[in-house]
Amino acid sequence: MAGVDWDGVPSASHIGPEMHDLMAELYPICRSLTGDGVRATFSILGREVPLEITEIPSGTQVFDWTLPREWNIRDAWIAGSDGTRVVDFSRSNLHVLGYSTPLRTRLPLGELREHLFTHPENPDLVPFRTSYYREDWGFCLSQRQLDQLPDGEYEVVIDSTLSDGFVIYAEAYVAGEIEDEVVFSTYVCHPSLCNDNLSGVVLTTTLAKYLQHMRTRYSYRFLFGPGTIGPLCWLWKNETSLDRLRHGLVLSCIGDPGPLTYKQSRRANAEIDQAAANVVRERGGSVIPFEPWGGDERQFCSPGFNLPVGALSRTPADRFPGYHSSADNLEFVRPEFLADSFLRCLEIVDVLETNTSYRNLNPKGEPQLGKRGLYRTVAGGSSTEAALLWTLNLSDGEHTLLDISDRSGIAYPAIRVAAASLRDHGLVEEFEPQ
Ligand code: ZN
Repeated sequence: MAGVDWDGVPSASHIGPEMHDLMAELYPICRSLTGDGVRATFSILGREVPLEITEIPSGTQVFDWTLPREWNIRDAWIAGSDGTRVVDFSRSNLHVLGYSTPLRTRLPLGELREHLFTHPENPDLVPFRTSYYREDWGFCLSQRQLDQLPDGEYEVVIDSTLSDGFVIYAEAYVAGEIEDEVVFSTYVCHPSLCNDNLSGVVLTTTLAKYLQHMRTRYSYRFLFGPGTIGPLCWLWKNETSLDRLRHGLVLSCIGDPGPLTYKQSRRANAEIDQAAANVVRERGGSVIPFEPWGGDERQFCSPGFNLPVGALSRTPADRFPGYHSSADNLEFVRPEFLADSFLRCLEIVDVLETNTSYRNLNPKGEPQLGKRGLYRTVAGGSSTEAALLWTLNLSDGEHTLLDISDRSGIAYPAIRVAAASLRDHGLVEEFEPQ
């Protein structure tokens, strides 16, 4: 199998700014679990890659969950006695507690304070807060601004609606040679926040955009939905065809400067676990075990599904500075980190596409590589020869190329090239299990 055609992959200096530009376009939109912000996001993503959108009505019972009502917001503010808006949704959508119920009232500062949220340990940042499943209203502002608000009465307006509507999710599908699928999933429920979560949105979109022009063995599906309930709805709708899902990755918090982090699937020994760990470790990242909290992998890895789905991030959520605050912005996520994540995801795709077993056709003693032009250096050897010797030695039909890379410590692409070279010289053949 050919694997990723690297000649067709855009360079980091091209793809990074392209992804960052898309992020900048999506940044001002007020997304939430539901509502027009999600629709507006899908209409922009739909320009990049064809999307199929599924709507499920509020109130629908999906496994143990009742789908929430749809929230939409047009405007919101807190105004002082002279009418000046001191907190204004139109300046930043983070200023409103997500899912705030409609409100129009006047309150003294003392009562208003009960509905104001700040980040006391980071007094200049506006926090991101939501109240999805309990009806409430509120505003978010910096501690510094709150400290400076004079006593007195304030006009408080939240021009929102919370009414029956839909939970919507979108998927892009790229058909490969076989129906078995690799699924990339991300969430679309955060407003103006970049690493968590627009980095995942633009990475997933860009992977879809470029993979649709590549010839692949697997089919690829890209899911975009609100956190938790999005994957639940998709799993609910696709329960009878989940055996097609062969490998999956949840992408989140993937544009910050930190090294890559791969969180294993619940199975821990799925091929995606081995493939992602191989690529991430080769690039200086780390692998952490599954745990039943975190992101949407929790749903794919719930015991009733136990799908081979891991999670890829750079610095995981809530461990990077500025998490869930106004500091998680377009300056924090840089094009070069988005580009690096994009290329690493394609490396994982390349492993999944090409990982196979070979059988050494000359297993008694080493074959004489020199007479075949495969052994070029004298004394000491080189990494190319090490890859050839490891591949010959472990090509017994029981070890995959990924196993050989893991055991030898040689990067997967070098092992794959060595196997192709040995095959071209008639020294190994692809192993077809009987
Ligand atoms: Zn978040």
